[in-house]
Amino acid sequence: MLVVGLGGMGSAAVRHLAARGVRVTGIERFGPAHDRGSSHGRSRVIRQSYFEDPTYVPLLLRAYDLWEQAQKEADTDLLTLTGGLYLGPPDSATFAGSLRAAREHDLPHEVLDAAEVRRRFPTFHPAPGEHGLFESRAGFVRPEAAVAAHLDLAARDGADLRFGVRLLDWTETADGVRVRTTDGEITAGHLVLSPGAWAPGFVDVPLRVERQVQFWFAPPGGAAPFVDHPVYVAEGAHGQQIYGLPAIDGPAGGVKVAFFRRGRDTDPDALDRVVTDAEVAEVRERVARTLPSLAGPLVRAVPCMYTTTPDEHFVVHRAGNVTVACGFSGHGFKFVPVIGEILADLATTGTTPHPISLFDPARFA
Ligand SMILES: Cc1cc2nc3c(=O)[nH]c(=O)nc-3n(C[C@H](O)[C@H](O)[C@H](O)COP(=O)(O)OP(=O)(O)OC[C@H]3O[C@@H](n4cnc5c(N)ncnc54)[C@H](O)[C@@H]3O)c2cc1C
Repeated sequence: MLVVGLGGMGSAAVRHLAARGVRVTGIERFGPAHDRGSSHGRSRVIRQSYFEDPTYVPLLLRAYDLWEQAQKEADTDLLTLTGGLYLGPPDSATFAGSLRAAREHDLPHEVLDAAEVRRRFPTFHPAPGEHGLFESRAGFVRPEAAVAAHLDLAARDGADLRFGVRLLDWTETADGVRVRTTDGEITAGHLVLSPGAWAPGFVDVPLRVERQVQFWFAPPGGAAPFVDHPVYVAEGAHGQQIYGLPAIDGPAGGVKVAFFRRGRDTDPDALDRVVTDAEVAEVRERVARTLPSLAGPLVRAVPCMYTTTPDEHFVVHRAGNVTVACGFSGHGFKFVPVIGEILADLATTGTTPHPISLFDPARFA
């Protein structure tokens, strides 16, 4: 078995394959847990009342179990629960979608009006008439630590992991695949492809690669109110969402916040890492409306890449001797361990008990 791309999804795939006793090789064009793809920036929001589609909820519930299992086995912190607040007008995708998922799956949640939001969470200044859904079982996961932990667990179970090795192309054979890499040829019974932002070079799926910036601001009054603080998604008047995390990077580390989906197309090999003053001013102005005490000086700004499908749902699919996982559309990291489990299922048995029909690329045909 060969896994190509050892970022979020690929690291979890090698971990699950190796744990099942499968002989697995993994190749990665950069180093372990690097910052050149989509899985860097110290934190990723994880939540259950999933406004994107309630279909994701069973996968999330399984992902939570697997996050806890991985952090226990690797003896490292990966998942922190802080609670999550999803704010917007009553009919917004963020609020109404979260409520729908919570009700459909009977998830514990509270609905708050704007005054109640301000009373319970004073950093938020929702507009009159906005609503908030609060759920206690939301929080964040640590992307670099998670990739490193999955790779360590896989190596411990015998996976052969090779870094600085790039896939060039492959051909399917009667009993597997023949793969050309920058380090020679590899033959394997099955290929799992999880190349993140480089997927458009390898798969026939409509994908856009987008540059998205993560910002850390220093709250002028200090970071203390943001330490014991929920993760959040807040939707403004035109559907534009921002999301943010608690202050987890120390007193001088700033507090992370970003636009959800406000990027521009990029070539993954030419990602522009320079963040302009105009970009900083735009997000600060938006943050000032909902969390005024956060809108201070910029501490740092780090670009990253979304690989987005037309409907913003994932692509996870097996055809012949190749299983593909791509198009995670800016919301995939929270699912990393369950996608690893699904990839291991598909690669070894051709099927999975998990509900993944939403991720079938045939929907684009
Ligand atoms: C700014 C930002 C914020 C986000 N916030 C959240 C969030 O709060 N919550 C959430 O759930 N999700 C979030 N996401 C989305 C999530 O991080 C991604 O969906 C996820 O990281 C994608 O994982 P991946 O394995 O597909 O890609 P990656 O982790 O990038 O892995 C792909 C790997 O393939 C390797 N590779 C590519 N081509 C080759 C080749 N030819 N040969 C060998 N190796 C190759 C790459 O080097 C890379 O390591 C965010 C994403 C970004 C960019």
